[in-house]
Amino acid sequence: MTTIYGTLNGKAALVTGGSRGIGAATALRLAREGADVAVTYVNGKEAAADVVRAVEDLGRRAVALRADSADASEAADAVRLAAEALGGLDVLVNNAGVGLLGPLESLSLADVDRVLAVNVRGVFLASQAAAARMTAGGRIITVGSCMAQRVPGPGGTLYAMSKSALTGLTKALARELGGRGITANVVHPGPIDTDMNPSDGPYAAGQAQMTAVGRFGTADEVAATVAHLAGADYVTGAEFSVDGGHAA
Ligand code: NDP
Repeated sequence: MTTIYGTLNGKAALVTGGSRGIGAATALRLAREGADVAVTYVNGKEAAADVVRAVEDLGRRAVALRADSADASEAADAVRLAAEALGGLDVLVNNAGVGLLGPLESLSLADVDRVLAVNVRGVFLASQAAAARMTAGGRIITVGSCMAQRVPGPGGTLYAMSKSALTGLTKALARELGGRGITANVVHPGPIDTDMNPSDGPYAAGQAQMTAVGRFGTADEVAATVAHLAGADYVTGAEFSVDGGHAA
């Protein structure tokens, strides 16, 4: 489908971790709304190239950047490279993340450093770099997790801690950047059918049961809310659950 809705015509967006899953769906949704899009990836070169082609098929410009959010300089540099490739940056979607669950005693120092580097430090540094470039109308949208709002069982200490930090960052960004006309919001997906959390995985049935609607969501359902926020002027510092009622 090649409909261009046009609410983001002329905008340039960067989606971190845009080669697969929620990030890829978001990149395509933003392009359908009229945005040019940069995506980052680490291993998925071919998948990222497919996303670029799909965006180009919609008549928008696209670029794929290999940039590991765990690396401090790459996390910030991706913002510069995206802005240079697209001629500016209006929308940053902090989507790249790693899900690491397990008993408290099983989590190593390396696990803690890795998860915080990708899920928290990389988000901070990309947001900082984006804020330095954005003008009025800029949007920072961060993908958190339903586990920042409700932890339904054991094994989530590290992941929930990392995703909860994004709420504090988002609220503080909203306060710091609101006067410049830049908004910051966080979207908390529930169980979403992706490579990270397949709907036929070993823990899938239990996760679906924890939602009010009794099913996994799709990456497109998260992307729709991200795209809405990319076009929303008077919404900032807010948390949005796209979780089928997981937090209800
Ligand atoms: P996937 O594992 O399906 O996709 C992850 C994407 O992020 C890939 O494009 C991957 O690139 C990229 N990525 C991974 N690590 C890095 C990194 N260090 N630097 C840059 N890019 C990276 O994940 P989802 O789509 O499921 O998740 C997206 C976001 O949504 C994450 O922040 C996750 O925590 C969050 N989330 C997901 C939920 C779910 O149920 N799926 C629920 C709640 C939140 P590559 O192809 O190169 O590996």
